[in-house]
Amino acid sequence: MKLSQRVTNLEPSVTLAATAKAKELKAQGLDVISLTVGEPDFTTPENIEKAAIEGIKSGNVSFYTPSGGTPELKNAIIDVTKKNYDLTIDASNIIVTSGAKFALYTLFQTILDAGDEVIIPVPYWVSYGEQVKLAQGNPVFVSGNLANDYKVTLDQLEDVRTAQTKAVIINSPSNPTGMIYTEAELRAIGEWAVRHDLLIISDDIYDHLVYNGNEAPHIASLSDEIFHHTVIINGVSKTYSMTGWRIGYAVGNPEIIGGMTSIASQATSNPAAVSQAAAVEALIGQQETAEAMRQAFEERLNTIYPKVAALPGFELKKPQGTFYLFPNIAGAMKMGGYDNVTTWVNDLLEQERVALVTGEGFGSPESVRMSYSTSLEDLEEAVVRIRRFIENSQ
Ligand code: PLP
Repeated sequence: MKLSQRVTNLEPSVTLAATAKAKELKAQGLDVISLTVGEPDFTTPENIEKAAIEGIKSGNVSFYTPSGGTPELKNAIIDVTKKNYDLTIDASNIIVTSGAKFALYTLFQTILDAGDEVIIPVPYWVSYGEQVKLAQGNPVFVSGNLANDYKVTLDQLEDVRTAQTKAVIINSPSNPTGMIYTEAELRAIGEWAVRHDLLIISDDIYDHLVYNGNEAPHIASLSDEIFHHTVIINGVSKTYSMTGWRIGYAVGNPEIIGGMTSIASQATSNPAAVSQAAAVEALIGQQETAEAMRQAFEERLNTIYPKVAALPGFELKKPQGTFYLFPNIAGAMKMGGYDNVTTWVNDLLEQERVALVTGEGFGSPESVRMSYSTSLEDLEEAVVRIRRFIENSQ
């Protein structure tokens, strides 16, 4: 059977592929340390699990829910949007989706026609460009650089703006770099988007995972006008260690949210009811466990960052958030005679049993992504192995 152009042109997710490969080798009994994962390594906090179990016992989660999410979860999102963004919204501004990934998917399907352009800063989260293409849009990539913490400037954005530009994506803290845009940078981008009537897609999924006194300002909070040009993407996956539950959400103007809800109603009907019940507790229940997980990431970052930065041929600045390091390894590749980061990553896995994600899927062919969502012991051992690999490859 000849498959559609759409699917033949699609790049599968490199992060999921790398994680699957590492798992497969581990299952074969090999001593693999995987720094590939895009999810917290903690189990979901007990109070959230309990809320799900109570939902099941009550029988309330046996049925379809409204496509855009239960009233209880929408109310919880209204509360946290007030608390975290200082924005007053109502249920018509919200859609709950099966993960933030599906919020983004329905958003692109809602706003893009063939040939419309979405500006995506590089390095980018692997799914943005592919999802834009699935909606027949054109991703337009703009490269940040290490000296500027991989953040794009207004001049760069203005350089690529055309009559077809529909939206710009801001992901701060960023997966994969962990860097945060300052309020001034966000304000400049927000005002530029308002001036040119562009939609800002603000992917705030890592906004609670920030460390060492850093804060992640929200672009949507900067002015009413900017908020009216923004769709916020957020969810419970990363903050509450709930990736498997698949609950994300979007906040934006009712017209766009209504379009997204129509698409979801024809695609999934609704996100799993039991997961929605759990997400209510995540958002409005006790926050101490989430804070303890954040502190554990902070400790890992502070321990592992200096060791990774000291690896020969590695260059990186200290990330401010997320749970990733994204070193430029051009120097290390050169030492080993490599001109391709994916080959370097594959050889590292084969020789030293450390799994990283190639930067290629993030648009950065001189970088690797290392997740520190694993034990400190494994992280320290991984650094020892990577150093040995670099030294042996010279
Ligand atoms: N946005 C970014 C930047 C991410 O890294 C991820 C997950 O890896 C998502 C969105 C999607 O999260 P989920 O679909 O688990 O809510």
